[in-house]
Amino acid sequence: MKPTKIPCCKCKTELATVLIRHAYYCKVCFTFVFVGKYRSIITKSRSISRNKGKVLLACSGGPSSLAMLNLTHEFRRVEPHEKKKVQILGPTVICHLDESTIFEEQKDTLGKLQKLMKEKYPDVPFVSNRLEDVFSDEFSDNHHIDKSLKSVTEFGNIGYEHYVQLIQETPDKTSPADRLKHLFANINKNTSKEDLHWHIKFAMLVSIARREGCSYIFMADSSTRQAIKMISMTSKGRGYSIPMDVGAENNASFKDLVIMRPMKDMLAKEIALYNRYYGLDAHVIAPTQWGTRMAAKTSIDRLTEEFITTLDRDFPSTVSTVSRTASKLTPSSDVDLSRRCAICLMPHQSKINEWRKRITVTTPQGGSLEPDVTKSCGTTEEGGCCGGGSGGGCDSSKSGIDMNEYLCYSCQVDLKDYKEAAIESLPPYVTHIIDEKERQERLREQIEEFLLSDDEE
Ligand SMILES: [Zn+2]
Ligand SMILES: [Zn+2]
Repeated sequence: MKPTKIPCCKCKTELATVLIRHAYYCKVCFTFVFVGKYRSIITKSRSISRNKGKVLLACSGGPSSLAMLNLTHEFRRVEPHEKKKVQILGPTVICHLDESTIFEEQKDTLGKLQKLMKEKYPDVPFVSNRLEDVFSDEFSDNHHIDKSLKSVTEFGNIGYEHYVQLIQETPDKTSPADRLKHLFANINKNTSKEDLHWHIKFAMLVSIARREGCSYIFMADSSTRQAIKMISMTSKGRGYSIPMDVGAENNASFKDLVIMRPMKDMLAKEIALYNRYYGLDAHVIAPTQWGTRMAAKTSIDRLTEEFITTLDRDFPSTVSTVSRTASKLTPSSDVDLSRRCAICLMPHQSKINEWRKRITVTTPQGGSLEPDVTKSCGTTEEGGCCGGGSGGGCDSSKSGIDMNEYLCYSCQVDLKDYKEAAIESLPPYVTHIIDEKERQERLREQIEEFLLSDDEE
């Protein structure tokens, strides 16, 4: 902003140098207000007031995550002259996921971040994993699958055994990096790629947080990002889990972890200004996605981004209105947290398949416009999971497993863009969740006849 003669709207003495939406601020007052937004989310958090646990700071190197890093660092710093030395936040760990295997542009990111950490935050532990590590034992439970493979064979379910075998065999053939590339190369649409990319990162952050003994994960979603996520996720059919996907404080999804978004009230422009004032802007690394530098129609996320930012240019209240609405959402009262989607880890509704059949329009040829419900894992290219029959329902008891049973609606829709090769290359954590649910289901079936129902005496 050019120097003006307009006084700051807060202190009324200094001349304003910053225009945020309709308000003029001087630099000091802007920083005060900006930091205040962060402080208010932390100090008002019910989870933090109950349990002062360790915090994992998810850091991509993008503007918002660097600002969050600095804000958290400043917030935890206790000035020697301060009488009340109450530390609200527990110790922090910075966590970066290296995506250079799938995004060439990110190959220097880790090095740059490590340099910044050494310079600015030498006392804060920094951990990093490569995205392909999601295939390693650390992020899976292979030993567990071995055990269940044996118990399942007793029931003679060949399809299931084949499925587990497939998942176990694939990593031996290729390196994790190749497997990751292979996975994304076999997904047709950018929207499905972006979704899976995000779900993998999220699942890894959850694992890393547990490994590091953290009780909190701080995500740096800005107000602008929240607004984009709110609209794009609604259009992708994630309405059921959206309060947990975008909320400032999600303490419902996991028993041992709280997901916090302390940057959810900051606009992208405010974050850029803060970074400039703190000398962080030179360290910012632009994030990459499949839709980056491509036309707006490349993916739903990219299209929504274009829509929101263009609208916000002419109507500067757009972002804050949408993101304020997002933060008012609460999970549905009947949400079943034990029913977790195997890919995105968020709770999902039961009986989605039946519901979808009711609302689906079918074409005269008998083809259906709905997502392919027959997609399953453990299928072979020659035979197909349904004995080569096209359009028929997949009988999971005879051949492979119908993956849709274990996915939320939105992930089911994405699955329709996965080729067989992509399904076979899904990370082991997905298999693990399916395996666990499958075992529970089998156990329930086995003991069912011994259970008394409520009306039986
Ligand atoms: Zn001022
Ligand atoms: Zn899902």
